[in-house]
Amino acid sequence: MRQVSSPLLSIRVLSTYFQVKETVVKAVDDVSLDIYHQETLALVGETGCGKSVLALSILRLLPKNSQIEGSIRYKGLEILEASTEELRKLRGQEIGMIPQSQASSLNPLLKIGWQVREVIQLHKKIGKLEAQKKVVNLFTRLQLPDPAKRMNFYPHQLSGGMRQRVLVSMGVACKPQLILVDEPTKGLDAVLRKEVVNLLREQAAENSSSMLLITHDFSVAAVLADRIAVMYAGEIVEMGSAAGILAKPKHPYTQSLIDSLPGRGFKLIPGFGPSLSLLPPGCRFQPRCRIACSDCAALHPEISEVGANHFVRCFYAGTLYLNDHCHQFCFMGGGGIGTAIGGLCIQSVGFSQFFAIYCLGLLVLLTAAYILMGQEKETSSNQQLTNTK
Ligand code: SF4
Repeated sequence: MRQVSSPLLSIRVLSTYFQVKETVVKAVDDVSLDIYHQETLALVGETGCGKSVLALSILRLLPKNSQIEGSIRYKGLEILEASTEELRKLRGQEIGMIPQSQASSLNPLLKIGWQVREVIQLHKKIGKLEAQKKVVNLFTRLQLPDPAKRMNFYPHQLSGGMRQRVLVSMGVACKPQLILVDEPTKGLDAVLRKEVVNLLREQAAENSSSMLLITHDFSVAAVLADRIAVMYAGEIVEMGSAAGILAKPKHPYTQSLIDSLPGRGFKLIPGFGPSLSLLPPGCRFQPRCRIACSDCAALHPEISEVGANHFVRCFYAGTLYLNDHCHQFCFMGGGGIGTAIGGLCIQSVGFSQFFAIYCLGLLVLLTAAYILMGQEKETSSNQQLTNTK
C-alpha cells in the first residue's frame, strides 16, 4: 500500500437515501473512507448492503428519488457540488467505472468497437480512425483474440470472458486515476474469475491507478486489496489493512464472512441482512451475531479505532478476540472474568499457544494440589502415630 499525505478520494459522513413512496431507504449511512494513490481498497459485504450505491454516489449516477449528504472530495474537488461540465470530465477520464454484470452492461444493439470508441472520443479530441486504432490497441493489450475483427462483433457474439474484457477496456480506456470496479467476478466460473482478477491487477499496475473494488467475495479482495472495508446494512463495520483483517478479524460479521469461505470452514451466516428501510434498533448485526448481549439490541455502536488504522464498529472489538474459542474457554470453566482474560490472551498469542499455556497451568495446579494433599496426609498419619505411642 502506498499512502501519501493526502488521499486521492476522501469520503466523509456520506449518506445516500432513496424516497420510495412513504418510505425512506437508507442505502449508505454515515460512511467515511479514503483511497490513496495507487491503492486498492476493497469494499466487501453481502448483496444489498449498499456497496454499489456508494460507488454510484461517487459518480453521482443516481436516480432522481435519491438524496446524497456529506462530502466526496476527489483531488480537492467537492463532487457533490460539481457542475455538469465538471462531472462530465470526471466520469471516464479521471474516474472510470467497470459495472457489474457483463451480460447486461453492454448495449446489445451496438458493435463493441463502437461502444469503446465512443468512450475515448467523448474525452479525447481525436478523429474516428485514431480512436479506432486505440480500441484495437486496448483489445490487443487485454488479449482479446483477433482484435481488429472483434471490433465489429455484437455483445451476444462474445463469450462471458470476452464481454468482461470489453467492459474492462471501457473502464480503463482513458487511463483514469481511480477505477470503480463493481462485482467483477460475479457469476463467473473459477477459471474466468482468476483471469479477471489478473486482468484487473495488470491494468491497475500499468496505468498506476487506484481502485475501489466492490465485491461480496473475500477471496477476490484477499488477492487484490491493500485495505479492506467491510460493509453491513449501509454502514462500514470494519476497516483496516487486508493482511490484518484476514489474519485477525475483529468484527463478528467479518469473521463470519471469512469463515464462510470454502477454504476457511464454509460455515453459513445464519439469517439475512435487514431491510434498509426497516433497520433494527441497536447494532444492525445483532439479530445474526453469535456473541450479542442485551446492550447490543438497545445501543448502536460507533466505529472506533482499535489498532493502527484498524477501525471496528462493535462494543467488544479490541477487548475480546471474537472467536468461538472464547466461548470454549468459558465452557471449560473460565467463567465471565475468565472469558475476558482468556479473550485478551488469545488475542495476543493465538488460540493454540494460549491453550497450551492453559493446560500447562492446569497441570501445575493439579500437581501442587496433589503434593499438598500428600503432605497433609503424611502429617496426620504422623500425628496419629504420636498419639498411639
Ligand atoms: S455490537 Fe454486539 S451485536 Fe453488534 S457485532 Fe458487536 S457483539 Fe455483535
